[in-house]
Amino acid sequence: MLKIGLTGGIGSGKSTVASMLEEYKYTIIDADTVSREVLNKYSEILEKVRIQFGDNFFDWRGEFRRREFGNHVFRFPKERKKYESIIMPFIIKEINEKFEQLEKKGEHIVILDAPTLIENNLHEEMDMVILVWVDQSTQIQRIKSRDKLSQNEIINRINAQMSLDRKKDYANFIIDNGKNLIKTKEQIDDLVELLRLYEK
Ligand code: ATP
Repeated sequence: MLKIGLTGGIGSGKSTVASMLEEYKYTIIDADTVSREVLNKYSEILEKVRIQFGDNFFDWRGEFRRREFGNHVFRFPKERKKYESIIMPFIIKEINEKFEQLEKKGEHIVILDAPTLIENNLHEEMDMVILVWVDQSTQIQRIKSRDKLSQNEIINRINAQMSLDRKKDYANFIIDNGKNLIKTKEQIDDLVELLRLYEK
């Protein structure tokens, strides 16, 4: 089974590309969904969060204040790293289990959609890495109209990630999503052609 990592940067178009690939019936594992699933599945994650971050992120019933916590770790990169070191082993375990199950089911190709694929070294376990790249001014424009963030907030978020240009060094296939969706779809068609060679 071919394991493909799909990655990019904030607002570069990963979800757009993933839904185009879904139309071709590829099976996709969404790392963001997995990161929410593991919170429900492994209670030890929140136990560790409580020990390391304190009771403030839990309400009086003991419910996790997910949004407040998300804002907190987003604002302080060191805190985010601390949280990632707690949750990442669970996410990786879950992703590997999903790959194994899909391989047993007889899938030929499975795509892992993970924004921080490279930052978390998951690319090393993939047979192929696809990067959804976009030029920075288009990226800023798109985030601005989608998320209603200020220019500064957007630039901070872009700078908090590895740059899309650096990610190019890790990619086997680069989709330039800086133009219209028809142009992106054409590149997806080229990719699908390439993957069909593998399936034969
Ligand atoms: P994030 O990781 O931040 O959630 P993403 O990489 O999944 O983002 P998308 O949500 O797919 O990115 O795209 C960002 C925004 O840009 C969306 O509003 C989407 O509709 C728009 N968009 C994506 N690709 C194009 C394109 N080629 N032309 C015009 N708009 C686009």
